[in-house]
Amino acid sequence: MADLRAALAARPAGTPVRLAKPTSNLFRFREPPGRAGVDVSAFTGVLDVDPANRTADVGGMTTYEDLVDATLPHGLIPHVVPQLKTITLGGAVAGLGIESTSFRNGMPHESVLDMDILTPDGEVVLATRENEHAALFRGFPNSYGTLGYALRLRIELEPVTPFVRLRHVRFASAAECVRAVEEICANGTYRDERVDFLDGVMFGRNELYLTLGAYTDTAPYLSDYTGQQIFYRSVRDRVTDHLTVRDYLWRWDTDWFWCSEALGAQHPLVRRLWPKRYLRSDVYRKIIALDRRYRLYERYAKLRRQPAREPVIQDVEIPVERLADFLDFFDDEIGISPVWLCPLRLRDTEGWPLYPMKPDRLYVNAGFWATVPLGPNEVDGTHNRRIESKVTELGGHKSLYSTSYFDEDEFWMAYDGVTYRKLKEAYDPNGRLPDLYSKCVRNQ
Ligand SMILES: Cc1cc2nc3c(=O)[nH]c(=O)nc-3n(C[C@H](O)[C@H](O)[C@H](O)COP(=O)(O)OP(=O)(O)OC[C@H]3O[C@@H](n4cnc5c(N)ncnc54)[C@H](O)[C@@H]3O)c2cc1C
Repeated sequence: MADLRAALAARPAGTPVRLAKPTSNLFRFREPPGRAGVDVSAFTGVLDVDPANRTADVGGMTTYEDLVDATLPHGLIPHVVPQLKTITLGGAVAGLGIESTSFRNGMPHESVLDMDILTPDGEVVLATRENEHAALFRGFPNSYGTLGYALRLRIELEPVTPFVRLRHVRFASAAECVRAVEEICANGTYRDERVDFLDGVMFGRNELYLTLGAYTDTAPYLSDYTGQQIFYRSVRDRVTDHLTVRDYLWRWDTDWFWCSEALGAQHPLVRRLWPKRYLRSDVYRKIIALDRRYRLYERYAKLRRQPAREPVIQDVEIPVERLADFLDFFDDEIGISPVWLCPLRLRDTEGWPLYPMKPDRLYVNAGFWATVPLGPNEVDGTHNRRIESKVTELGGHKSLYSTSYFDEDEFWMAYDGVTYRKLKEAYDPNGRLPDLYSKCVRNQ
């Protein structure tokens, strides 16, 4: 830590910096020029797991894959494990983290007990809910590395059983599905069955599924979706299923939800030839990054005179009572399918200023990751802008890990510019890190 502090402090004031990290799950591809990388490779491990207190001390750049591998032998996992293996604890806390325990455990930052944060000027501060850096602790979630970097975090863990029993329940309309989500999130049960995990998939307006998961000590059989079988298809094809906890946590990673299809990885022949160890979200993301860099698909489409396509890669959180409106709009005007659905409710009653979701309110995250053709007079951003407006109209919230098009006033209204500015003045007075708008909308 001392090396890192010294290296940062030695940079002349005003020198912009960035994290030098081998993996990323951001979907903004422009690499900002001229920003010196901060080597954080020393913060990529689990320092300690305390089974008695159910906590772990973790380097900020530790991937959830490594974190879970360290906690599972103790029969414990983090309260929320985002489903892509290379998402890091620091990335999820400063960015986005939602998974099927979020309806009861909220988001990853809500189970952080304390964290060491490297400020842009090279100081390391310990931030907790109560100490003199409590404002930074509260403002850190959704700051996307613009207020400093989390180097070490102490987090709460929850006990697990070896297996998860799954039940896929089909609904013929969004309204029906919403009723079931409300019932499960209110009681933790569905028709008297305990529900520990809850997420879902919309394949079409009249075909929605909720996947209910329950911890169990025994399993009559175990499925395997890490090779030839594909998890998202099983949601449609099966009613019940059983997985080890580890396979359950990574069920979406093998095919990047369903996005591996665009890369051919779901074609039976290609899949047989594709080494199993490379069926992983970080491999697919690297392929997409190469494509974006060299504009391969774009050039190919131009040659074939196909219309330009706009990437629509987003996660948005919609208040549950407006979910059916959102899904109708989405089906009519955007038309991407499938859509991932994941209910969440904040665990903390005070809320998080830059993540302005209301405590005690149930939201459903809708995740969609594809491209949509642009009409002859439509410019890039048309579809994303339409989605942003709808989300705002419905009282929802948009994650910032991908492209955004908000104008500046609208952005600061949505993400508490007043609190943010105070934090920026206190912790980054020399402006070494870009502000949230410049980073997430202007992509600097
Ligand atoms: C197709 C797709 C689907 C996704 N689906 C989901 C989903 O369903 N659920 C979900 O939870 N997330 C999802 N994500 C988003 C992902 O979780 C976020 O982008 C997350 O912030 C990435 O974390 P990372 O560790 O990979 O960080 P990076 O991508 O490396 O960085 C993310 C941002 O956080 C900052 N940052 C990274 N580490 C730290 C740190 N230690 N301290 C401070 N700032 C830091 C970086 O500067 C950067 O701005 C999805 C992303 C994609 C592309």
